[in-house]
Amino acid sequence: NGDVSSRIDYVFKVVLIGDSAVGKSQILSRFARNEFSLDSKATIGVEFQTRTLVIEHKSIKAQIWDTAGQERYRAVTSAYYRGAVGAMLVYDITRRQSFDHIPRWLEELRSHADKNIVIMLVGNKTDLEKQRAVSTEDAKEFAEKEGLFFLETSALNASNVESAFFTVLTEIFNVVN
Ligand code: GDP
Ligand code: MG
Repeated sequence: NGDVSSRIDYVFKVVLIGDSAVGKSQILSRFARNEFSLDSKATIGVEFQTRTLVIEHKSIKAQIWDTAGQERYRAVTSAYYRGAVGAMLVYDITRRQSFDHIPRWLEELRSHADKNIVIMLVGNKTDLEKQRAVSTEDAKEFAEKEGLFFLETSALNASNVESAFFTVLTEIFNVVN
């Protein structure tokens, strides 16, 4: 319709990837609905949620895809990555293994996705600082080496979740313009 308030200038597909239980679904829920659940169920079926926001006076619909419990290696299908212009590569700062698997996810992402995809490395669960098992420095160094954006977030207390998505979406906007 012609309603100015509902005009969409761009739709950007962004995918969430990373090991099971790192908080992908809760990060999405925080971003899309400002909700969080401590006993979230494992995601079933391919799902995406959208949020429309304004970046540089343009209306952008962010379509954020969440894995369908396909977190096992190579289980995420190419359809999931198709058309994605951004990716959030998520690990849990309290679980070293989830960080050690990041190179694998990155390799998978790079083999399936567009070469210009904007990637953000996300260390989630900073509210659990006492249980931290991955230092900020290690992650930052990895991100720099690989040319990724990097932020630490908490879906629980909302720290940096907006910032992570806005950084990725703004960069995508700059790439397409
Ligand atoms: P997914 O498998 O990557 O989608 O992970 P979920 O979003 O389902 O989260 C797995 C578990 O971690 C759930 O119990 C969440 O409530 C919890 N969780 C997610 N994000 C955070 C966070 O930022 N802080 C804390 N303390 N728990 C979180
Ligand atoms: Mg999930």
